[in-house]
Amino acid sequence: MTLAVQERVELQALNTLAVPAVAEYFAELTEPAQLDEVLAEARDRQWRVTVLGEGSNVVLAETLSGLTLVQRCRGISVLEQEADAVCLQVAAGENWHGFVSWCLDRDYFGLENLALIPGTVGAAPIQNIGAYGVEVGRFVERVHCRELPSGTPLVLTREECEFDYRNSIFKRKWQDRALIESVTFRLPLTPSPVTGYPTLARWLEEHGDGDPTPRQVFDGVVTIRRSRLPDPGDIPNVGSFFKNPRISGRALGQLQADWPELPHYADERGGHKLPAAWLIEQCGFKQRDAAVRVHAEHALVIVNPERRPAPEILELAEAIADAVHQRFGILLEQEPRNYGFTSGGGRG
Ligand code: FAD
Ligand code: NAP
Repeated sequence: MTLAVQERVELQALNTLAVPAVAEYFAELTEPAQLDEVLAEARDRQWRVTVLGEGSNVVLAETLSGLTLVQRCRGISVLEQEADAVCLQVAAGENWHGFVSWCLDRDYFGLENLALIPGTVGAAPIQNIGAYGVEVGRFVERVHCRELPSGTPLVLTREECEFDYRNSIFKRKWQDRALIESVTFRLPLTPSPVTGYPTLARWLEEHGDGDPTPRQVFDGVVTIRRSRLPDPGDIPNVGSFFKNPRISGRALGQLQADWPELPHYADERGGHKLPAAWLIEQCGFKQRDAAVRVHAEHALVIVNPERRPAPEILELAEAIADAVHQRFGILLEQEPRNYGFTSGGGRG
């Protein structure tokens, strides 16, 4: 099916922060066969290509020049079923939470801690989505991409994806240079629930019989998330605006001298992790009542109920980062990606 490229398309409904933005050129991919044609047109017309999924981890400027391509291709196929695992190839446009539920319904385990994370399957490897003690990277076998702008197929193995804390090769070497078409997952058929995360462990203790099933983990995660996080459909947001900072044991010791109550967690990759939400709260941002503000239940989430433009969001983010730096000497790293800005860390 031929893909129509549209001009000047509104993106406010296509980003969960609901900032007003316009794509200079725009196309929604629904069939894999449309890709070659649209990439050829982008090359001919020398358009820069921006790929979006559900827009839940981006901050968009007023205008996105070039072509904004939204990945909506769907489909899940079972590639192989072994005695202890299943291999699934999933099109990038599948909704992440829908895919997690689909797996659990078939007793394909492992993804239950990642329930209710907004967005698409194709975006999941980009920042190695993670929650409640699990990261998607451990279940990814391969990521099938096209190089941009050439369209040449590219397949990366899990090792080649270089998954890290909310990071991967797609935020480094392949940033803006790869479009993800599908992801191959290998999921265990034997349950091995990850229940150690404190809020989840508490919920399971209160609601279970001491031997939690993946379904209970899924239910617990969904319930906790609904109680703590604003639904972007009601109050626009992009989830955590900053990553939780990771520091060395020495830096932690120095901070604890001034802040003995500082919460911290062992980082599974070495060192320590600090909850950015706590640092932000100490700087008084929860008390601020403004059009763009931090969420009353969770200081790490910037909310945009009045659907204000991106510069107002980034202004608050900068004020938060400056305050945390001044008070704790810690540099917060923004998690959602800026698009269309000419300065301030965004892509021009
Ligand atoms: P988009 O926001 O559309 O894009 C994000 C980035 O991925 C962009 O750089 C984009 O160019 C790129 N991209 C998207 N699709 C493709 C593709 N097919 N090919 C190449 N590049 C692509 N994240 C977590 O890790 N853990 C959480 O617990 C979590 N909770 C959240 C809660 C809320 C309420 C919200 C709003 C967000 C949360 N997030 C969380 C962030 C977000 O949901 C994830 O990062 C998600 O994977 C983004 O998916 P998306 O389809 O919306 O991507
Ligand atoms: P929380 O339970 O209030 O904890 C605050 C932070 O401390 C978490 O973000 C977490 O870092 C860290 N932490 C807590 N217990 C930990 C442990 N036992 N081991 C290691 N680190 C621990 O968290 P929350 O904000 O409600 O979020 C719950 C989970 O969902 C977290 O995993 C969080 O990352 C994820 N989440 C992510 C987003 C996003 O947009 N990226 C939005 C909402 C929720 P980690 O982030 O490393 O887990």
